[in-house]
Amino acid sequence: MYQALYRKWRPQTFDQVVGQSHVTDTLKNQVKAGRLSHSYIFIGTRGTGKTTCARILAKAVNCLDPVDGNPCGKCAACVGINDGTVLDVVELDAASNNGVDNVRALREEAVFSPAAVKKRVYIIDEVHMLSTSAFNALLKILEEPPEHLMFILATTELQKVPATILSRCQRHSFHRIDTPQIAEYLEYISKEEGFYLSHEAAELIARLAEGGVRDALSLLDQCSAHDRIEIDTVYSVMGLAGKRRVTAMLDHIVRHNTAQALTDFNEMWMDGRDGASFLRELSDLLRDVLMLKVAPKRGTLLLSGGYEPETLKGFAGRMETEELICAMETVQKYLDSLRDVKNPKTTVELCLISLCDSTLGESVNALRSRVARLEAQLASGIVSRADYVPQTEPETEFEFPPVLAEEPEYMYEEPPRTPEAVEAEPQPEPEQHEAEPIDTARVESAVSWAQICQKAAPELSPNIRFSLPDETKMTGRMDGDVLNIYAAPGFLYERLNRQDVLGKFAQAAASLCGREVRVILSEFKKTDGVQRSLDELKSFKEVSFI
Ligand SMILES: [Zn+2]
Repeated sequence: MYQALYRKWRPQTFDQVVGQSHVTDTLKNQVKAGRLSHSYIFIGTRGTGKTTCARILAKAVNCLDPVDGNPCGKCAACVGINDGTVLDVVELDAASNNGVDNVRALREEAVFSPAAVKKRVYIIDEVHMLSTSAFNALLKILEEPPEHLMFILATTELQKVPATILSRCQRHSFHRIDTPQIAEYLEYISKEEGFYLSHEAAELIARLAEGGVRDALSLLDQCSAHDRIEIDTVYSVMGLAGKRRVTAMLDHIVRHNTAQALTDFNEMWMDGRDGASFLRELSDLLRDVLMLKVAPKRGTLLLSGGYEPETLKGFAGRMETEELICAMETVQKYLDSLRDVKNPKTTVELCLISLCDSTLGESVNALRSRVARLEAQLASGIVSRADYVPQTEPETEFEFPPVLAEEPEYMYEEPPRTPEAVEAEPQPEPEQHEAEPIDTARVESAVSWAQICQKAAPELSPNIRFSLPDETKMTGRMDGDVLNIYAAPGFLYERLNRQDVLGKFAQAAASLCGREVRVILSEFKKTDGVQRSLDELKSFKEVSFI
């Protein structure tokens, strides 16, 4: 009968446990010295060896002939516990035995001395799943445990375990295991099992397992139907797109090349690649680029290790931090929604479309990402409207249509004009709109904060009047019928935040707009360079419509 690798290779002694020596050494020493606690709690993510260590400990404390703190694996106690004939070692899954009745039954049983071995051991897995009343019942035994009793609790979610329980247990934290360590272990097992596993493939499997040996072995199991496991075998078995394809995809995204992105994805799809896995791979790449960007010196330590540093640096130079964050957020959003959708292909396609065209995102981060790109372009002397209007696949990054040349507002009123003609035409002075009754859209754009200030100034107290020209203290903007005023927190804000003061601004704005205006006062956030940039971006947009 075929036995899954992770069962077959489940460690039988502390020494065989991979990558948790800080726990296993301590436990071995306690067994040797006979200084055992009556209750332990093992904490750590899935597949890091908590239950395995609990079983080893249960054997070690009962073993008739322990070897350097390890169970011998040969005596009656070890054999009996291994094959399940010793009923004094009980494993419970709290996920399915979470009620108070289960724990009460356990308590009644626990008072009796063990029948076959020295200690009765209860291993309670996923202990955080217990109900509150079950926890209380458990607490009663932990408070005064009989000498023959030992509890080993295991959990992935420490924060859900009551402090009263924690304080009575000896805690041991299981770490995620390093990729190289898992990879080495996989290579060792493959050798023992007699199949070929390339070093690259071992590393990929180890990365995919995210620090869990059990997951790594399950993945290896899935690949082991092949005689030779190369990196492409792993990609194919796991339905992964692979480094080359994911890198190419990010390149399309950076170039805003939606058509190519969709074509490539379609190919992968027809090839049997999985949509969710692909988005996760893309997210991992984005994350690595971001790490390199925000922590260029130490960032390499944080990288998943899947990509060449040169590749990552290339992308880091082409994408702003905000863009990366926004892209990761977009991918995550679609990944989340993939769980409930009937047509995953469409979902991934929508994700790619919005990644290629950041103007489609309306989240704050999407706006931030646009602001960041604008700022980068301003810094390099390139100003373009193209980041703010839907694009039609520009070939390279900066070959955008000139400012205003494709402004849709003009398209149906007048024949298209050349950029020269647009430039030659003098821009109307904002003051011209003041007296003229023009259509609303134009007035909205025309009434500026400066005009409102000018109008309101004579009515205002000197404190406020002197702050008006200082943008770092206050600024404002018309949004439809609303005048948004932003002020620095503190004294000025308090002065402004009065019915009569805000009323003066409302009157000034209303007389300029020719209709009623509502005023909303907000604080500048302390570190909010982004909010300011956002406002600048919005005003930039409005100016362009004049
Ligand atoms: Zn033994």
